[in-house]
Amino acid sequence: MKKSLWLFHFGGASCNNCDIEILACLNPRFDVERFGMLLVGSPRHADVILVNGSINKKGKERLVEVYHQAAKPCLVVAIGACGCTGGIFAEGDTFAGPVDNIIPVDAYIPGCPPKPEAILAGLAKLVEAKFGKKKIPSPDHTKKIDENEIVENEIVTNEKVTLKK
Ligand code: SF4
Repeated sequence: MKKSLWLFHFGGASCNNCDIEILACLNPRFDVERFGMLLVGSPRHADVILVNGSINKKGKERLVEVYHQAAKPCLVVAIGACGCTGGIFAEGDTFAGPVDNIIPVDAYIPGCPPKPEAILAGLAKLVEAKFGKKKIPSPDHTKKIDENEIVENEIVTNEKVTLKK
């Protein structure tokens, strides 16, 4: 990895538990900054967009806008069951996701909510896959994730979209 990754947090419509766990990654206990990662306030400064919560019709426009504002290449990580699939909100009338139907997603960190350790492990795995020796293929936008197949807190990247138990 040649540079530190700066993170932008996009919170969709959610119960906010995933937001709390993402913010916990920033505190001294989990300390995401030890990996050189820093939360930034503008997508224009971001290398990675963290998306949690379900994306509704209003949020969809904002998500696309944020994605276009980020300098490319930009990685996108879907966090939590809602971020990965829409979770419990997927059946709602206003649901407009999942995220990977709107913008390309590079990694999925399932869980409801995923623990900070799982989020950090997912980010570390993504960094290794993207910037380490291992190469991963581009996101497969045709692949649909079956929420029933997601194992809670299992870290999954597009390197192997194996969400089977
Ligand atoms: S995945 Fe679970 S904890 Fe996270 S926003 Fe959705 S309902 Fe809340």
